[in-house]
Amino acid sequence: MKYILHFEDVCTQTIKTDWLLQNQVSLDVLRIDRLHEIISGNKWFKLQYYLQKAKENNYDTIATFGGAYSNHIIATAYLCKLAGLKSIGIIRGEAALYMPHTLEQALNLGMRLIHVSRAEFKDAGRIKEKFKNIYWINEGGYGIAGAKGAKQILSYCDDPGKYSHIICSVGSGTMMAGIILSAKNDQIIFGISAMKGNRELVHKIKALLDNESVNNPYRVFHDYHFGGYAKHPPSLMLYMNEVWEQHQLPTDIVYTAKAFYATEDLIKNRIIPQKSDVLFIHSGGLQGNLSLPPKTLTF
Ligand SMILES: *Cc1c(COP(=O)(O)O)cnc(C)c1O
Repeated sequence: MKYILHFEDVCTQTIKTDWLLQNQVSLDVLRIDRLHEIISGNKWFKLQYYLQKAKENNYDTIATFGGAYSNHIIATAYLCKLAGLKSIGIIRGEAALYMPHTLEQALNLGMRLIHVSRAEFKDAGRIKEKFKNIYWINEGGYGIAGAKGAKQILSYCDDPGKYSHIICSVGSGTMMAGIILSAKNDQIIFGISAMKGNRELVHKIKALLDNESVNNPYRVFHDYHFGGYAKHPPSLMLYMNEVWEQHQLPTDIVYTAKAFYATEDLIKNRIIPQKSDVLFIHSGGLQGNLSLPPKTLTF
């Protein structure tokens, strides 16, 4: 296994289609999904400073939290393996009879998996008390160091300053905070929540922006979850296949397909006004599609 991150493959892809033409809107997709097939996209950006801190402070084990399909869990497992650190994943919910692909892979990467009930999972403090000498990373890499890493994402655009609107998917809000912190003052940032009704998000994002003078307008949209976090009804699968056929853009079921759908909807409904220049961050997550039955997707 080699530590190869394909920075040279990160690029912007210009989307051309009738609903953009009709509204005189330009749309570029920043393909950070192309960085790595497993540590895909934003997870490397968010985790890098945590790993650095753990090493600097001579920890030999990193532990973090996540669900059974979590991109964050697998990225942490992979990066720890590469960095020569041990890793522990605290997994939400009891172990199922059939182990999801993500967890199986994390296990193969040497991560120790500890399942806790949903109720226990909510009290991270209590869980942490049971371990010693561990460098803890919050669920989803949430935190200042995560946002600091995500500040580098926009620099992979040829011309990040030219966009009026930047759109990204939102889980913990860490990436969005990094985008806001690194955007030009007048750029508008829209986050598309992957969850149903997570109204805390705005506060969590704001907490990562404190102490910095941020004037950017930003907003989190809550109506594009397709039934809830990680829910993937047939309508979403159909949409993903369409997006692939029309634009050769692969998306994932949890985050980027929903955010891309939102982008199309916001442009068609002119929430994003005509003549805007839009950047969509493709944050990765494609490994999550492996949990689908074969042939569900055409890519
Ligand atoms: C984790 C993840 C997100 C959410 O990022 P946050 O910083 O937690 O908001 C978005 N897209 C993909 C593909 C992810 O894996």
